[in-house]
Amino acid sequence: MSDVPTPVQFPVSSRYAGVTSTAVRDLLDVLSQGNVISFAGGAPAAEFFAAEDIRACFDWVFANRPAKALQYSSTPGEPELREQAALRVSRSIPTTPDQIQVTTGSQEAIYLVGNAMLNPGDVVLVERPTYLAAVQAFASSGARMIGIPSDDDGARPDALEELIREHNPKFVYLIPTFQNPSGVCMPLSRREEIADVLRRTGAILVEDDPYGELRFSGEFIPQICALPGLAHQSLLLNSISKIMAPGIRVGWIRGEGPIMNTLSIAKEAVGLHSSVVDQLAVARYLEAYDVDEHIRTVVQVYKQRRDGMRKELIEILPEGATVTSPDGGMFLWAALGNGIDTTALLPIAVQEGVAFVPGESFYAHDPDRSTMRLSYVTNPPEVISEGLHRLQRALQRWHG
Ligand code: PMP
Repeated sequence: MSDVPTPVQFPVSSRYAGVTSTAVRDLLDVLSQGNVISFAGGAPAAEFFAAEDIRACFDWVFANRPAKALQYSSTPGEPELREQAALRVSRSIPTTPDQIQVTTGSQEAIYLVGNAMLNPGDVVLVERPTYLAAVQAFASSGARMIGIPSDDDGARPDALEELIREHNPKFVYLIPTFQNPSGVCMPLSRREEIADVLRRTGAILVEDDPYGELRFSGEFIPQICALPGLAHQSLLLNSISKIMAPGIRVGWIRGEGPIMNTLSIAKEAVGLHSSVVDQLAVARYLEAYDVDEHIRTVVQVYKQRRDGMRKELIEILPEGATVTSPDGGMFLWAALGNGIDTTALLPIAVQEGVAFVPGESFYAHDPDRSTMRLSYVTNPPEVISEGLHRLQRALQRWHG
């Protein structure tokens, strides 16, 4: 008799039954093992983490607030962090600390928003393309996602209005600034048109803004929810992942009214509260260190890397391919055309030692399979060049 127990069939809720790991994600998971240059993840340039300053903040917390840092605490978040968050958000939307719910990264915020507001079968409108882990999170709440047709300026207001009137969505999820994956920054005029539609229809906006501060050229554009009359009808999601460090896992939701209490109840059920140690260290960093100066340094590096990657990428892509030219954020979005299916190209690219995310993953439905997302921030210039040589070889094999 074998000692190996018979595998038990654990029940899987219908909410998760349809949310499977994709072949792409599985492939990306094996990347860390080999000598593969990855343009796939949205990982900041690790060599620019302010590691010493951040360490000093954690030291400060243990030296000055040990009992508080190590104890259970309240669900909405630490007052020090909520105050710092409110100050940052107030640069564009007047915000008080009680309008902030701290989250464990903005990914948790996305999950909580879905969990708090959606019933199975409810409709959520998302961009085409949109952030794939948001699609996954909303799907786990049973949502039906419908993509809003878009153009070079982002979601189209006429299409948005039509979809709102037809489907009565629970909310509209947008990433207007340096969108993931497209890198598009919606111009102010388009934001005003979208805001008009939202005001007219009363549709709720969930505005995800983890990249807004990573601007290296062009003028600051206010969030859609910062436009007149929209703050009370919107939730704004922010994160320190891209301006400080994603490993810390701190973000927040800015919102008003009773929904904040519902979000807090959802958060309590998921994890009681975010790590107090982390919250206090982040609050200390935002208060005592110059994060804006840090961001200014990092975005200059990102700009150079965008320039370098974009120039070389255009050289290796086939005629007719297009590549975005974002003013900030982390990603280039390429449409290859020429019958190239990037999901089928990925295994060839990985054999050549380079990875990207096939565009297919970013569509709630009807994907454009010739698209791909590449992060230009993670690798230094010489690694980017080598990675693109490998991609060129993969493309030659595809055509060959
Ligand atoms: N929203 C968007 C649009 C993202 O691109 C990401 C990270 N890639 C997140 C949310 C989640 O970020 P985090 O949980 O690290 O704050």
